[in-house]
Amino acid sequence: MVGGDGACMGCGEKTAVHLIVSAIHASMQPHVTQLVARLDALISALDQQARDLLSAGADLEAAASAKGSVAVPVDATKAERLRLLNAALHDLRDLKWRYVEGPSGNGRASLAMANSTGCSSVWGSTYPYNPYPFPWVNHLFQDSPSIAIGLFEAHMRKMTDNFVAVRRAELLAAGAYDAARDEAALSELDWKQFTDEEFALCPPIVSMGGDGAMLDIGFQNLSRLLASGKPIRVVVLDTQVYSNTGGQACTSGFTGQVADMSAYGKSQHGKTEARKELALIAIAHRGVYVHQTSQASASHLISGVLKGLHKRRPVLINIYTPCPVEHGLADDWSQHAARLALESRAFPYLTYDPDGGPSFADCLSLEGNPSPNDVWPSYALKYVGDDGAEQTMELPITIADWAATEVRFKQHFSELPASQSGDELMLFHEYFAASAEDREGRTPFIWALSKERKLRRLKVSPEMVVLAAERQQFWSQLRQLAGLEIPVTVHDTVVRQMESEFEQRADALRLDYEAKVAVLKASLPTQIARRLAEGLLRNAGTSAAVAELIASLPPVAMPSSAKPSSGNGSPPKIGLNSAPGAAVKQAAQTVPVVPASASAPGASATQAAATAVANDDTLVLEAYIDSARCTSCNECTNLNNRMFAYNADKQAYVKDARAGTFQQLVVAAERCPVSIIHPGSPLNPKEKDIAKWVKRAEKFN
Ligand code: SF4
Ligand code: SF4
Repeated sequence: MVGGDGACMGCGEKTAVHLIVSAIHASMQPHVTQLVARLDALISALDQQARDLLSAGADLEAAASAKGSVAVPVDATKAERLRLLNAALHDLRDLKWRYVEGPSGNGRASLAMANSTGCSSVWGSTYPYNPYPFPWVNHLFQDSPSIAIGLFEAHMRKMTDNFVAVRRAELLAAGAYDAARDEAALSELDWKQFTDEEFALCPPIVSMGGDGAMLDIGFQNLSRLLASGKPIRVVVLDTQVYSNTGGQACTSGFTGQVADMSAYGKSQHGKTEARKELALIAIAHRGVYVHQTSQASASHLISGVLKGLHKRRPVLINIYTPCPVEHGLADDWSQHAARLALESRAFPYLTYDPDGGPSFADCLSLEGNPSPNDVWPSYALKYVGDDGAEQTMELPITIADWAATEVRFKQHFSELPASQSGDELMLFHEYFAASAEDREGRTPFIWALSKERKLRRLKVSPEMVVLAAERQQFWSQLRQLAGLEIPVTVHDTVVRQMESEFEQRADALRLDYEAKVAVLKASLPTQIARRLAEGLLRNAGTSAAVAELIASLPPVAMPSSAKPSSGNGSPPKIGLNSAPGAAVKQAAQTVPVVPASASAPGASATQAAATAVANDDTLVLEAYIDSARCTSCNECTNLNNRMFAYNADKQAYVKDARAGTFQQLVVAAERCPVSIIHPGSPLNPKEKDIAKWVKRAEKFN
C-alpha cells in the first residue's frame, strides 16, 4: 500500500485507488455468483424442455428395437419452438462462459477504466507493473471523461443484449413467451429500464484523473459528463498540484502553497488564489452524487464509493491523495497527512446525495468530519518538559498546525528564538479569533516539537492567516448548506425575533412552572404511597391487607378535563386483580385539579403533570461502550474526539454524549468493528432525521 507498481514510495494515489478498485470488485462478486446460478437453472430448464419436445410423439417401441437412428416427427410449430430453445441455450451458455472463464480465463472484469494522462496513468502502465486486472485505457490529459462516455454507451449496449437473452430465456422457461408481443419490448430495452439486480451486474465505467486533468485542462469534458446524467463513476485524485510534470501550481492548490509558477519570493509568497472546490461545482450540476473523502478514513472512503455504485446518476469521488514528492512528506506519511488535512479543515469531508430530499440540508452530509461543532478540533500534544518528564498540552489543530508539517508551506514558518519574549506572541488560534485591534503588534505562533520532542515555537506568516480565514469560510458555508449553521444575516434577524418573543413567553413559562410545582407537591405523596402499595401487592401476592391499604388511601380530586375511570367521580379502586399497569394509569388520572380554563397556564401545567406521571415509566438509555472489548481502532475517536475518548488503558468510552449528534453515536456504533458502542436514546428529539437514526440505533442498544 505504500508503493509498488510504477508509483513513488508512499504515493497517496495508489492507496486510494487500491481501496476503490477493491471495493468495486468485492461488491460485484455476489451479484455475479447469483447470476451464474440463475444461468445454470435456466440452461437446465430449457434443455429439459427441448428434450421433452423432441421426444414427444416419438415411437418408443420402434426406438427400443432400432439399431440405428430413430426418426422423430417434427412439424413446423415444433421446429420453430426447438429453434428458439436452441438459440436461447446458445446465448445462455455463451454468457455463462463469459462470467466464469471468458477470453482472459478469469471471467468477466469487475470494471473498466478510462485514465487521463498524469501520475496515475504513468504508474498504472509502466511495463511490467500494470496493476489492473480489468480493461484500462489511457488518453490525453483532458480526455478520460469523454472516452468514458463512449465506453459507457457501448458497454450498456452489450449488457442490454445479455439481459435480453436472460429475459427471453425466462419467458421461454415459464412457457409465457410470445414472440410478437415480447420481441418488440425486448428490442427497446435500455439501461434505464434495467432492474436493480441487472443494474448491479453492470461493471462500472470509471473515469479517473488527477486534479490537473479534472479541474483545469479537462474541466469542460468533466462538466459535460456530469451534466449527462449517465451513471459513470469519476475518480479525481486530488494532489493539489501537477505532480507528474514537476509540480506546477493547479487551481486545486491552497493559498500560500509554494509550487512552480507560484513561487515564494519578495513580492509574492506562494499561491495567491483560493482553492477551487470541485465538489461544489459538481453539486452545481444538480444531479451528481458527490463524495469528498481520503484515506484518512478508509471506512468513509469505501462506504461512499459503495453507495455511489447504486446510483443511476453520475458519481464524483474527489479524494485528497497526498503526494510525498511534491508536498515534501516522508514515505510513510500519506495517511497522517490526509488525517491532518481533514482535522484542520483544509480538506473537509462531504457527501452530496441528490436523492436525499428537496433541500440542500437533506442532501448534504458532513459526516466524518471531526468535532463538527467546533471551529477547530483539538488534539493532545505530548512533549518532553524542561524537567525531562512527559507532558501533555491540549491544543486546537489549526490550518497552521497542518501546513507546518508539509514542505510546500515551509517558507510560511520560522523558528522563534527561545530568548524572544512571550508578551508580543499570540497562539495562532487566538490570533485568528482576535479582532484587528487585538492583533495589532502581536505575532501568531504555533507549538511544534524538536527531534528530542521538546517544545519549539514557530512564527506563522500572514498568508497562513488568510488561508485559515478562507478555509474556515468554506467550512462555514458547507455547514450552512448542510443545515448545521445559520448564516450570520439570517442569524441576526432570527435572534431579534427570538428576543422579542422571549420576554412574552418567559412570564407564561414562569406561571406554568409554578402551577406545575404546586400540582406535583400536592399529588406526589399519594403517588408514592400508591407505588409502595403496588409494590407490596406484587410481592405479597393476594394479600387482602394490602388491598385494603390501597383502598384506604385518601381520595384525590380529578382534573376538570379528565374523566374518572369509574365514570362517577369516585376515587379509583385498585383491587387484588388489578394489573399494576392499570393501577399506574388510574393513579396518574387522580391528580388534584387546579381549576382553570383550558387555555390558562395552570390547565396546561396540570395536564403536563398528569402526562409526566403517566409517562414516568419511559426509559431513557444512556450511550455507553463495553470498553473492556475495545480494540483501540480509533474509528470512534476519529469521528468525534470530544464525544469519544480513551481511558488510561487505551480503551474507548463515551466521554460526553452531548459533544456531538445522535447520528454520530449511531455511525460510530456502525463503524465499530467489534460492535460495542451502544448509542442509547437521542438527547435532542429535534435532530435532523432522528427517526431514521433511532431505527438504525435499535440493533446496538
Ligand atoms: S509524483 Fe506524487 S502523485 Fe505522482 S506518483 Fe509520485 S508520489 Fe504519486
Ligand atoms: S470503534 Fe469500537 S473498537 Fe474502535 S476505538 Fe471505538 S469502541 Fe474501540
